[in-house]
Amino acid sequence: MRRGIRRPRATAPWYARTEARLAAVVVALLLLAAAAVIVRSDDAPTSDDIAVRPTSPTATVGASATTVAAATGPSGTPSASGTPATLAPTPVPLLLDLRPAAVGQGETILVWVHAPGAFSVTLELRDDRFTLLPEGEVFWGVVGIPLDAALGAAELTVTARSSSGEIRESLTEGYEIISVDRPVDHITLTEEVASVLTPEAAEAERALRARLFSEFDRGRRWSTFFRIPTAGPMSSQFGQGRSYNGGPVGGFHTGADIAAAEGASVVATGPARVAWVGEMPIRGISVILDHGAGVKSGYHHLSAAAVVGGDVVEGGQLIGQVGATGLATGPHLHWELTVWGVNVNPLTWTLKDFTP
Ligand SMILES: [Zn+2]
Repeated sequence: MRRGIRRPRATAPWYARTEARLAAVVVALLLLAAAAVIVRSDDAPTSDDIAVRPTSPTATVGASATTVAAATGPSGTPSASGTPATLAPTPVPLLLDLRPAAVGQGETILVWVHAPGAFSVTLELRDDRFTLLPEGEVFWGVVGIPLDAALGAAELTVTARSSSGEIRESLTEGYEIISVDRPVDHITLTEEVASVLTPEAAEAERALRARLFSEFDRGRRWSTFFRIPTAGPMSSQFGQGRSYNGGPVGGFHTGADIAAAEGASVVATGPARVAWVGEMPIRGISVILDHGAGVKSGYHHLSAAAVVGGDVVEGGQLIGQVGATGLATGPHLHWELTVWGVNVNPLTWTLKDFTP
């Protein structure tokens, strides 16, 4: 067999030669195994699943899918009864991947399920239930872990159903919520600025946001990393505890602040439909973008918006200008990212690719 393997160069490196030997050994073993199968083939067809290879969108996961199918999947070989083989889909065990499996408070987790043939897959996590989105044989979704989520070991469950709603398979997997060190942000507010922060304003804004986050576009619009929406230093990170005028920490910073000059360009962090443009009592002039799949981004304290509700924008497209409207001590962009209404660290989305 070794002589039959042609190499482009006469002097193959040592590892190539080792590979060739290994390949020869593997082929010999496979031939032996096939011979053994043929000898026992009158019994129930349980041993040879090599032909049953589920296709998968990524090579890495596809390899493990094949391994699992070969190890535990029922055989797809025809029966020995003499009837023609039927090409019924072979049930393949669910494969679950959590990205990451240890997720920080205020961060995003992507749940990826390989479930060929399933009609729907649901996810139960932290008392919430999500319907995962189908893309080929994969069902996936992103979920935001709240900043105040309990630390430690947690569990999630995915359930695959047939078109009749019957449960095909259910899988429970552990993950971990870890703490992220975020310092307290001490802010001094002048009386004039502080006068904006009344209980009435806070309640009006909460009610408005509850309405804005009650609906989401279904399909994912993004295909790669998100981008930072304006140039400038990060003046306050997401999730920092906030103390106003030396008082106790009262809540967390719901976005990331980027200091920039009044009028500086603000661009969309990713492809989106403009879900809302208006003025909030505390966040000031705001644009909310819907990226689909439960993900929205918010741009606040703007001096002006450059889009209107319903516009469809590309990542990097101008959507407004930096300002200091609402509760702001100076011009800056307050940039938020929410996943199903849960505020998460937007910067993570510029560093990690949350695509299935
Ligand atoms: Zn802010």
